[in-house]
Amino acid sequence: MRRTLALLLLSVGVAAAQRAPAGVLTLRFLDVGQGDAVLITSPEGKSVLYDGGRSEARLKALLAQYQVPSLDLVVASHADADHITGLVPAVQQFRPRFFLNNGLAGTTQIWQKLVSAAQQAGTQGLTAKNQVINLGSVKLTVLAPPPGMTDQNTNSVGLLVQFGAFRALITGDSETPETRAWLRQSPATTFGPVDVYKSIHHGARKGDSAAWLAAVRPSNVIIGVGPNSYGHPTAEAITLYKKAGAAIYRTDLNGTVTVTVQPGGTYQISAARGTGTPATRTGAPTPPRTSGVPLPVSYPNCAAVRAAGKAPLRRGQPGYSPKLDRDGDGVACE
Ligand SMILES: [Zn+2]
Repeated sequence: MRRTLALLLLSVGVAAAQRAPAGVLTLRFLDVGQGDAVLITSPEGKSVLYDGGRSEARLKALLAQYQVPSLDLVVASHADADHITGLVPAVQQFRPRFFLNNGLAGTTQIWQKLVSAAQQAGTQGLTAKNQVINLGSVKLTVLAPPPGMTDQNTNSVGLLVQFGAFRALITGDSETPETRAWLRQSPATTFGPVDVYKSIHHGARKGDSAAWLAAVRPSNVIIGVGPNSYGHPTAEAITLYKKAGAAIYRTDLNGTVTVTVQPGGTYQISAARGTGTPATRTGAPTPPRTSGVPLPVSYPNCAAVRAAGKAPLRRGQPGYSPKLDRDGDGVACE
C-alpha cells in the first residue's frame, strides 16, 4: 500500500514537471521530426498550437506528455503536410474556437481531413490578416502573407509573440520573396530584435537570408528538423545564424526546446537533450537570465559536466563557475 502511494506520488511529480507552469509564458518547439510545431501557453493557461508537425500520433503523444488542458486557437502557417498533419488530432481533441490559416486551400487529403475535423469541432476558420490577438497577457501579432505571393511556402502566416520585453518570431516556411515583401511593407524594427526565432523552412537554402536576419537579429534560433532527404538544415543557414550571433538549437539533436518567460521578459531556454550551440559572437555571450527556480547545481570538473551532458556551460547556466572557465570567456568546458 505504502509502495503504491509512493509510486503514485512519483508519477504525479514527474507529470507536474511537464505541464506549462502558471504565471509564465511557455513556448515549446516540439520535437515532431522533420516539420514544425510550436505550443504557446500564456501565464493564464491559454494555449495556441502553431503548426502540428507531420504525424498525428506524434503530436497526440506530445499533447499528452505536456498535459495540455485546452487549446484556444490553432494556426497553420501554410497547408503543407509537415505542418498541418498534427493539427487534426489537436482540433479533434480540444475543439479550439479558431483555426487561423493563410486562406489558400491545400490540395492534399490531409488538408481535407483538417477542414472536416474543424467543421465537426465547430472551429471557426479565420484567414490571416495583419491583426493582434491577445492570448491572456501575451500579445500575438499576426504577419499575414503579403499580396502577390504564389505558393504555399511564400504564403506562410507569421506570428510575433510579445510578453514584457520578450519577443519571439515564427514564420513557417516563408522563404525570401515573402520576407523581402515584409521588409518592403514595414520597418525592420517591426520584426526584430527577437530573443527567440524559429528558423525558416527547417534551415532550407531559400529560407533565411542575411537581409532578413539583419532585421530579425535573433539571440537564439531554433530549427524544427528531423531525418530528411532535403539536406535540412543546410550549412548555409547554419552559417547565417552563426554570423547573426545566435545560439542554435535543433529539435533533431536537442529534442523539444522549451522557452520559459517571466513577467517582464527575462527568459530561460532548456532542451530535452543537450544544450544547443552557444553563440560565437565576440565578447561574452549574454547570460541566460534564470528565474531562480532550478536547484543549485555544481560540478567538480569538466569531466563531470560532460558526463551530465551539459557541456559547454555558459555563464548564468546552472552549474557554471569561473573555476571551470579557464579562459574566462563566459563559456566553460568548451
Ligand atoms: Zn515545412
